[in-house]
Amino acid sequence: MTIQENVPLAPLTTLQVGGPTRYLVEARSEDDVREAVEFARAKALQLFVLGGGSNLLVADSGWPGLVLKIAIGGIRREDQDGVVLFDVGAGVEWDGLVAQAVAGNCAGVECLSGIPGSVGGTPIQNVGAYGQEVSETIKSVRAFDTKADRIVVLPEGTCGFRYRTSIFNTTERGRYIILRVTYRLVAGGIPGLKYSDLQKHFAGIIGSPSLAQVRAAVQQIRQSKSMLIVPGDPDSRSAGSFFKNPVLSEAEFRDLSGRAQSRGLKMPSYPALDAQRKVSAAWLVEHSGFAKGFTMGAAGISSKHALALINRGSARAADIVRLKDEIQSGVEKTWGISLEPEPVFVGF
Ligand SMILES: Cc1cc2nc3c(=O)[nH]c(=O)nc-3n(C[C@H](O)[C@H](O)[C@H](O)COP(=O)(O)OP(=O)(O)OC[C@H]3O[C@@H](n4cnc5c(N)ncnc54)[C@H](O)[C@@H]3O)c2cc1C
Repeated sequence: MTIQENVPLAPLTTLQVGGPTRYLVEARSEDDVREAVEFARAKALQLFVLGGGSNLLVADSGWPGLVLKIAIGGIRREDQDGVVLFDVGAGVEWDGLVAQAVAGNCAGVECLSGIPGSVGGTPIQNVGAYGQEVSETIKSVRAFDTKADRIVVLPEGTCGFRYRTSIFNTTERGRYIILRVTYRLVAGGIPGLKYSDLQKHFAGIIGSPSLAQVRAAVQQIRQSKSMLIVPGDPDSRSAGSFFKNPVLSEAEFRDLSGRAQSRGLKMPSYPALDAQRKVSAAWLVEHSGFAKGFTMGAAGISSKHALALINRGSARAADIVRLKDEIQSGVEKTWGISLEPEPVFVGF
C-alpha cells in the first residue's frame, strides 16, 4: 500500500473542482483496503471512498482525512443456463463492463451505456438511465463492513434499492466499502426499449434492434444532452444531473400540475413506486428562469441539458454551490418544490 500526501482531488473528479486530500491510498486489492482502513483508524482520520469521481462536488478546502481510491480490477464471467454472471472488481470502469456485456450478447445493462464512473459506484445511488436501473441486474455486492471489520456479501434484496437510493447512501452511509459487484445478465436477451427517447430513435425500424444498436443509440442521445463525457466538450465538465427528479404523492402532484396548467404549461411526469409521480427536475429548472446555457461567473448550466451544472473552466466549488443555491431557491419560489442535489458533497 502506498500512501500519498496532499494530493489534489479536482483532477480525480469529472467536475474538476475542489482542493487536496491530506492522504490518498489507491487500493488494488482487498488487503490494500483493509490496510488503509487500519491506517485511517490508527491516525483517527476520516475516510472517504472514491470511485471514478463522477458524482462528487469536492469543497475548495479539500478533504482533511484519507481518500481511499478503489482500483480493484478483474471481470469474471460465468454462464449458467441462459444467465450470465459477471463478477466485477469495484475499480473497473462501468462503461467498459457494459461494452463487454454487449459485445458478449448479454442483455440487462445496455441502456446504462455511457454512464461514467466505476463499478463500485453503481450500487451506491442505484444508477439508472433510459428505462434501466442497475438494481435490476445486481445479484450481490461484496463489501468490507467497517462496522463489523470483515468482508460480507450482501444479496440484492438487502441493499434497499429505490430511485437513486440504496442503504449505501442512506441508512448505512459510510459503512461499506464495495469491493466487487456480481451482475446477473441474460444471454442473448432482448434489449430494453422502455424509454420514449429510445422508442423514438428506433421508430419505423422493423424488428428488434440489437444490443449493440441500443448501446450506440444511448451513447448518441447522451452526447446530444451532454450526458456523455467527451474530452474537450466543456458541457460535459459536470457531475451529470445535479438534481434528482422530485418524487411526489398523488395530492402534491395534482397541486403542482394544476399550477402548471393554470400557466398554460404541461409538465412531464412519470409513474413512480407506491402510487407516486416522478416529475422532471429539468423542466422545473427551465420553467423557473434558468435556461440551458445560463451562466453565473465560472459556473453555468450546460447548453444541452438544464440539469447539468458545469465548470466553465476556472470554477471553484464555491461557484458551483452559489449556482446550485440560486437554482434551488428559484424553483422553490416558483413551484414550491425543494430540489435535492444528486452528487455527494465532500469536505463541506
Ligand atoms: C456526464 C455524466 C453523466 C451521468 N449520468 C448518469 C446517469 O445517467 N444515471 C446515473 O444514475 N448517474 C449518472 N451520473 C452520475 C455518476 O456517473 C454515477 O453516480 C456513478 O455511478 C458514480 O460512480 P463513481 O465511481 O464515479 O463514484 P464517485 O463519484 O467516485 O462516488 C460517488 C459516491 O459513491 C461512493 N463510492 C464510490 N465507489 C465506492 C466503493 N467502491 N465503495 C463504497 N462507496 C463508493 C463515494 O464514496 C461517493 O459517496 C453521471 C455523471 C456524469 C458526470
